[in-house]
Amino acid sequence: MNQINIQYYKTKIGELILGSFDDRLCLLDFRYRKMRTAVDNRVKIGLGANFLEQNDATLTKAKEQIDEYLTGNRKEFDIPLLMIGTDFQKSVWNALIKIPYGATSTYLQLAKNINNAKAVRAVAGANGANAIALAIPCHRIINSNGELGGYGGGLSVKKRLLKLEQRNCALSDDEKYEFIGSKDTKYDGYFFTAVKTTMIYCLPSCSAKKPKRENVIFYNTTNEAIENGYRACKVCKP
Ligand SMILES: [Zn+2]
Repeated sequence: MNQINIQYYKTKIGELILGSFDDRLCLLDFRYRKMRTAVDNRVKIGLGANFLEQNDATLTKAKEQIDEYLTGNRKEFDIPLLMIGTDFQKSVWNALIKIPYGATSTYLQLAKNINNAKAVRAVAGANGANAIALAIPCHRIINSNGELGGYGGGLSVKKRLLKLEQRNCALSDDEKYEFIGSKDTKYDGYFFTAVKTTMIYCLPSCSAKKPKRENVIFYNTTNEAIENGYRACKVCKP
């Protein structure tokens, strides 16, 4: 029988269970979450393997990176991941990884990102079935109405993680301004640039003429821009 090396790891957001298989991280999750047994069984069955409590280089690296992440010194995990699930679940988890540190998204947006706008409920299910927390940042998904939504590690932990990231993240307005017109689409959908002289709002990557710094204001959502009287740009269609 194959084995999955596991370790329990106490952190300030609760006790975690970490698992590695074939030098890849297949488990990083809350030890006492509701779906613990279901997630563990999926991983075990998917790999045809059992848990053995034993440390290894992958798990050591994971612990280090978790510590760095929780102290605000790491924004992305740099460990090979092994996702155990259906193709649909994997597509959702891969879309989650693309949500930038400090940003949030919604089930609906995630469904759109995998070109399956009608699959919102299934996307929410896949999000909840994530076995590799933090590295696959399911905590960055909130409800469309702005409420926090659920989390395997509990809502107070989710709130704490989002706060940590937002505090640390964060692009200052000057840094956001640097992105305007850079053609870098990384932050498209995560903040919007509104121009006071034209009353138009854009995606950061918009190729229209770069506005002067003093004329730009930033919003986190299109709704905020619209509420403040801005219209969507016809070039970048935010
Ligand atoms: Zn534009």
